[in-house]
Amino acid sequence: MYLQGEAVRCVDDGDWPYVVEVRFTDVDGRQWSVVDKIVMFGTGSLSEELFDAGFPYPAAIGVPCRVLGSPTVGDDDEVVTVAVLPERGCGPEVRVRRRQLDGAEPVLVSACLAGVPCRYDGRAKTSEAAVGLVEDGRAVVVCPEVAGGLATPRPAAEIVGGDGADVLDGRARVVDATGADCTEAFLDGARQALAAAEAAGARRALLMARSPSCGCGQVYDGSFDRTLRAGDGVTAALLRRAGVVVTAGQAG
Ligand code: SF4
Repeated sequence: MYLQGEAVRCVDDGDWPYVVEVRFTDVDGRQWSVVDKIVMFGTGSLSEELFDAGFPYPAAIGVPCRVLGSPTVGDDDEVVTVAVLPERGCGPEVRVRRRQLDGAEPVLVSACLAGVPCRYDGRAKTSEAAVGLVEDGRAVVVCPEVAGGLATPRPAAEIVGGDGADVLDGRARVVDATGADCTEAFLDGARQALAAAEAAGARRALLMARSPSCGCGQVYDGSFDRTLRAGDGVTAALLRRAGVVVTAGQAG
């Protein structure tokens, strides 16, 4: 769920993802400010890459939040308390009007963030934000790699020769740690994830960071030595092309 906010400036566009300052107002008219990476926020139809120092600020932006101790439906004028940036675990708790929240849209969620032990190592990477979406009945939970037919556990995989967009365009491949090419399974899983998002009407996705499927903005570079490069995983790239706003989630 998002709290309506306003991106007011780029704090640092030296490295991707850029750091921005976002402001929002509570029910008492007090203005709050949070500074975080642009990928933490909901940028709607705008690409996250646009939010550099040259961007014509201010711009409407969604601040991730979670309603605390309250049912998920209610009057628009109702005052609710929300935890801001719940994934960070250290954001403020503020009182806002329900109408300041961005509806109850479904959100595509990486299954491992929702607590499903579907990662290559047979574990989950449970995220409070993802579990909150599940509890709110808004999560469309998908593991693209399992959907694509891969077993759990399975060898770790990385994109070789580019990022997920390059895989979609046939310029890069997904290879696992044994050297096996698993590109087709990743493409199949990406298509199934997109189909699930479209079927549910999900225009946003909360996806596991750095995964060759779900990573948004950063993925491992194919060297299998934990080196990151800019780019999306295969599913994230396909979702982004389809207009779904993708956000990298973290365990915790
Ligand atoms: S990162 Fe994506 S593909 Fe990998 S285990 Fe999690 S949901 Fe599945």
